Amino acid sequence: MHYDVIVIGMGAFGAATLYQLAKRGVRVAGIDRYSPPHNLGSSHGDTRITRQAIGEGAAYVPLALNAHRIWRELEARSGESLFNACGMLMLSDSRQATRGHGTTDFAGQTAALAQRFGIAHSVLDAQQIRQRFPQFSGYGEHAVGYYEPGAGYVRPERAIAVQLALARDAGAALYPDTQMLRLETFEGGVRVHTAQGTLTAGRVISCAGMWNGKLLQDRYASYLKVSRQKLFWFELDQPALYAGEAPVYIILDADADSCYGFPPLPGENAIKIAAEDYEDSGDPDLLQRVISQAEADAMYDKYVAPRMAGVSRRLLKSSVCAYTVTPDFNFLIDEHPALPGVTVVSACSGHGFKHSAAVGEALAMRYCGEDGAADLSSFTLPS
Ligand SMILES: Cc1cc2nc3c(=O)[nH]c(=O)nc-3n(C[C@H](O)[C@H](O)[C@H](O)COP(=O)(O)OP(=O)(O)OC[C@H]3O[C@@H](n4cnc5c(N)ncnc54)[C@H](O)[C@@H]3O)c2cc1C
Repeated sequence: MHYDVIVIGMGAFGAATLYQLAKRGVRVAGIDRYSPPHNLGSSHGDTRITRQAIGEGAAYVPLALNAHRIWRELEARSGESLFNACGMLMLSDSRQATRGHGTTDFAGQTAALAQRFGIAHSVLDAQQIRQRFPQFSGYGEHAVGYYEPGAGYVRPERAIAVQLALARDAGAALYPDTQMLRLETFEGGVRVHTAQGTLTAGRVISCAGMWNGKLLQDRYASYLKVSRQKLFWFELDQPALYAGEAPVYIILDADADSCYGFPPLPGENAIKIAAEDYEDSGDPDLLQRVISQAEADAMYDKYVAPRMAGVSRRLLKSSVCAYTVTPDFNFLIDEHPALPGVTVVSACSGHGFKHSAAVGEALAMRYCGEDGAADLSSFTLPS
């Protein structure tokens, strides 16, 4: 079969790209080695934080704002709840600058971008934090908070499922459980070799997540580092503490011991919390997918007990996921240097999901030659 575009990987970025291309009438196919949404890539675990003032850099702000618009459009089209604007609290015990996602002062840059883009936010002192958010404990008199009411969380599995269903409705051909083995270019197109046969297309967009490095070779194998991340759901002892204002949270620590988490979801009596680990990295096919009791205990003792009130050490659920990280924590969205007609989308570095709907839209607009596509030029492969 021949298509205008084949999208490899139907996770966060693949689903968004398929939906946006199919909606525009492009003859498009998606293939995935599994059957998304699934829990073997980088887009599972119920929730992803989304923000508007993006501390990772100004280039991300228009993408986040576009994505918020698209989540709402998708909700209207599907009837599914995808985006909860429950607010976001970024907390720190001191005004000392804290590194994060490639920046030297993550909170400072977030606040500066909120000012620059006119994004509603407030800065809270220790007393205001204590009064408004009793679920966060152990903060001294120098604590400072950045609160953004338009931030919140997106539901990744639902968002992927909705976009794939809408893509299919709009005519996209979806091939789940179909593994791409090799790409081969020819005059005017690309052959996608899979275990089940060969498809061809004028363009291929590779959204293979943590497998991009292994599949695409060239510089990608060394440029994209895959690191194991752990998600924990601890049961609440005092749910009343989380019944009031319950934002998503990023707790910054100058010693790089930052963590982030989510309020209880409707019907759940647990908080989800995670830290970021860049040391435990390697081959995506050899990822240790089970979380040990020792890892849960370490998480609770280091991050939960000192910082969160009313949370027990009972672990209700855990999950392993993976970041695909570039050296500067930026996205990589560019043409493959050795395979003409192949676009590589590696947009994780731990902060991709919130932008996925907008990146899919920008790629589709670019492919269709539409004006006004969001600018992706900050995300090119360094030479
Ligand atoms: C623990 C964790 C927490 C995160 N928290 C946040 C957050 O709070 N906010 C935020 O914005 N972002 C967050 N992120 C980042 C975000 O989730 C990722 O950037 C995003 O989900 C990556 O999407 P993707 O499409 O690149 O990868 P995936 O969704 O994993 O999709 C890749 C797809 O490619 C398929 N595939 C791979 N190889 C092949 C092949 N050979 N043939 C066919 N198909 C193939 C896979 O099966 C998979 O379905 C987090 C990530 C993790 C792991």
